[in-house]
Amino acid sequence: MVISSDYEEKRLTSSQIETLRQVLIQKKRDLNFKSRYSEEFHIDINERSDEIDFANADAVNSEQIRFRNRETFFEKKIDEALLRIENNEYDLCEECNGPIGYLRLQARPTANLCIVCKEDAERDEVNTYFSKNNRHRGKMLSYLSSDLRD
Ligand SMILES: [Zn+2]
Repeated sequence: MVISSDYEEKRLTSSQIETLRQVLIQKKRDLNFKSRYSEEFHIDINERSDEIDFANADAVNSEQIRFRNRETFFEKKIDEALLRIENNEYDLCEECNGPIGYLRLQARPTANLCIVCKEDAERDEVNTYFSKNNRHRGKMLSYLSSDLRD
């Protein structure tokens, strides 16, 4: 395989990679600190069920679960990025194997796709979102109509 000089230029230098590695490690530290913090202020439904109505407690809890899922997801992305650094493939797109570029990685240190492939993936995501949304709405309608029947 012939590697063009253009390709070589766009790969990260070891000091650029080291800079981003430090950013990732710091982000992971922040994340661990934040999840400890939110645990301390967790609302115990059993203790406070007299004061808060259940619908409200449910809303708070599902918000916390959503937040936690996002944190876990992000931590996984950081670990994956750190692993890609170890394997010397951090700045290469997982889709087309082309260089992701320093500017993009600076803005998004967990990026695993180049901007071209990312835009393609986002287009797919939007399509998936709409079809999911339609399925959900269909379920809601059948739920409502079964409710009306009773
Ligand atoms: Zn790509």
